Amino acid sequence: MAAQSNTGHGGRRCHVLLFPLPYQGHINPMFQLAGLLHARGFAITVFHTHYNAPDPVRHPHYRFVPVPDGMSGPAPVAILDVVAHIIAMGRACEAAFRDRLAAVLEEYSRDAVACLVADTHLLPVFEVARTLSVPTLALRTGSAASCACFLAYPMLFEKGYLPVQGIGAPRSFDRCIVESQRDMPVPELPPYRVRDLVDVGEDHLGLERELIARAVAAMKLSSGVILNTFDALERRELERLRRDLAMPVFDIGPLHKFSPAGESSSLLRQDRTCLDWLDAWPLESVLYVSFGSLACVSARDLAETAWGIAASGVPFLWAVRPGLVHGSSADDPDHRHLPNGFEAATRGRGMVVAWAPQEEVLRHRAVGGFWTHGGWNSTAESVCEGVPMLCCPCFGDQMGNARYVGHVWRVGFEVGGELERGSVEAAIRRLMADTDGAEMRARAGELKKAAAECTRKGGSSCLAIDKLVAHMITM
Ligand code: UDP
Repeated sequence: MAAQSNTGHGGRRCHVLLFPLPYQGHINPMFQLAGLLHARGFAITVFHTHYNAPDPVRHPHYRFVPVPDGMSGPAPVAILDVVAHIIAMGRACEAAFRDRLAAVLEEYSRDAVACLVADTHLLPVFEVARTLSVPTLALRTGSAASCACFLAYPMLFEKGYLPVQGIGAPRSFDRCIVESQRDMPVPELPPYRVRDLVDVGEDHLGLERELIARAVAAMKLSSGVILNTFDALERRELERLRRDLAMPVFDIGPLHKFSPAGESSSLLRQDRTCLDWLDAWPLESVLYVSFGSLACVSARDLAETAWGIAASGVPFLWAVRPGLVHGSSADDPDHRHLPNGFEAATRGRGMVVAWAPQEEVLRHRAVGGFWTHGGWNSTAESVCEGVPMLCCPCFGDQMGNARYVGHVWRVGFEVGGELERGSVEAAIRRLMADTDGAEMRARAGELKKAAAECTRKGGSSCLAIDKLVAHMITM
């Protein structure tokens, strides 16, 4: 697409500054946004941490400004380490970012800079921008529903929905009480139940509340929020958010559908041989399995999943990334930890890769179902290709996403409870072979059409992009 030109005061080209949170599920939508804005004529400058730094060679049209993050030591593995890492990294970057931003403003001239777009989890970046009088927009990489949940967090505590009692309690604690509390509806945030709320358990409440409060503070420091969702998917949730936030909310998703073809921000090398492997399979026959970039599973759950897949008889493509199994390292040569005998049991009808070109895999005609942890990017990518989902959520917004998949859009279902090979096998058969699964696939096909509609000229997301660009130029 030829870049249009947005000129600032004095005829200079407008610069948009971006600062992604350095995790895969946050980097991807930020670079997709960069591609979209570049195509609209903005010059792009990407500030980035040393941790998970992007490869500038893959994005020759952007300028990259490294910001030392002062973080050393191994990459965080458990989700609580990730939460602590996010908060610590934002703080550690603050002083260096102030210097880098001041230098960029001097070099470009202030009038040529339209705004800074940063991830909502980088509060210090918003604070620095404010002290240097740079207007900001917040990119929230989750759904509108999860964003509303963030805003409602204080209410959820006031009304006693959170913390969920008994999580982390001794074994003698009555689990039935815990379970019934977790099944309670939250009428203020339909269709969520307590179990669908962002909650990592009462032991870790301090960190989690801090993370969410900081994200909300970042949004409130901004002059608008950008969301990777679209009107037909979350109309009611977007209306609520606009009311609660009282600022412009730009629903410009699905962002990956606006991103220039061939531009990848993947941190791991994607194994493209699986696309050739998929070519040999009939329409909608293959189950794609992936748990995203952060979720970890126990060796036991991996084995139960593997044996359930084997027993289902369904062809599968499985992305087993290094470090996926609790306690394993991303550098482990035998990172797959698949049970002995699994390969022999599934020979000829399965492929295991470390990391897949997921968007292309989901777009492939042979893929008929997605076993997913339910990260928002994965959910949106699946919705856009009409692929029904089996959700196995782990943390954060994934439980809420699974609720929408199963009960609002009805394009899949959650595999609940303890993972057992029998229940895994039954779930896969239900999705891939039953009439129930066929109905979910048909509904997923309708959502795919709605997603395509919103990205057409005059579609809701295209109009939202026009509004965003106009907003940026006048900021
Ligand atoms: N992804 C990929 N290859 C894989 C697995 C995932 O390219 O084998 C990409 C996927 O397309 C998505 C991102 O990694 O854009 C994962 O983001 P998501 O929000 O789904 O989950 P997270 O990793 O943040 O938990």
